[in-house]
Amino acid sequence: MNSTCELSRAAGLLQPMWDSFLLHRHILRSPFLSAILAFCVHLLFSAPFLFLDALARHVSAVHRYRISSSGSEPVCLRRWLDCFGRILLRYIGIVLPASAVLQRLRTPYFPPAAPSCAQMLLEVGLCLLIFDTLFFIWHVLMHRVPWLYVWVHRDHHLNRDTFALAAQDASISELLSLKALAVVTAAAVGCHPLSEIVFYLLNIWLAVEDHCGYDLPWALHRLLPGFGGAPFHLAHHQRNRGNYAPYFKHWDKLCGTFLTEEVEDQVGRKYHREGPVEVKLDISRPGRGGILGLLCLRP
Ligand SMILES: [Zn+2]
Ligand SMILES: [Zn+2]
Repeated sequence: MNSTCELSRAAGLLQPMWDSFLLHRHILRSPFLSAILAFCVHLLFSAPFLFLDALARHVSAVHRYRISSSGSEPVCLRRWLDCFGRILLRYIGIVLPASAVLQRLRTPYFPPAAPSCAQMLLEVGLCLLIFDTLFFIWHVLMHRVPWLYVWVHRDHHLNRDTFALAAQDASISELLSLKALAVVTAAAVGCHPLSEIVFYLLNIWLAVEDHCGYDLPWALHRLLPGFGGAPFHLAHHQRNRGNYAPYFKHWDKLCGTFLTEEVEDQVGRKYHREGPVEVKLDISRPGRGGILGLLCLRP
């Protein structure tokens, strides 16, 4: 009896929050909301790292967590502002209107009941796994198909040293393709709208963490070893190949495209060193790579 009561209490935990969302459903229906939120939340999540970049110039305790190439100099304010200008122009010019059209095509769905915490955890977890897989395949293709790299992905790789804002410093076609992948993922899982919002927010945070350029002790990849995090993605930017997945390491390990691994020195300090050289599986001989070989197309 007690456990039944606890279960129903847990199931209703998110109801007050969902009720307040329902009260403002006219705002949720706005065709511009998702793009404006994506832009603003990205800025908000990036702001602490702008502060860290300013601090790292003068405070060695902060600078030691910086993980960029050779000089490890924090990114200057000018680069942040240039990047902000590029992203703003792309959003105003194309991403905002294109997202509005996409929103218009979708039928708004506002069920009266909130999801239970367990349902939300399951849906968000599935979304992360599916998005990670779709992004991995799309990312490999963007690197292995020359015209896709030039027209879609090259802009993102102009940032060899990453910083938080660079997470969305990509061509319009790449921004739109990633937005489409996220929408398709949430639709495939059949998410409750509240789970979908949490997935989008988490997606933005993980992209910011991937690009932040700091290996902080409380970063998600330090707490959950399956996550790649900033060192994993920085290696991708610096070597322009490998570590193609956005969140997790398993696809890169399975496909032989994993570039970094964490090791401990003799006094127990952890650091990242380069892992095995990326294996190039031959699609013309499927026997060598099997199904995974088909994903890792030869350049
Ligand atoms: Zn790339
Ligand atoms: Zn990147």
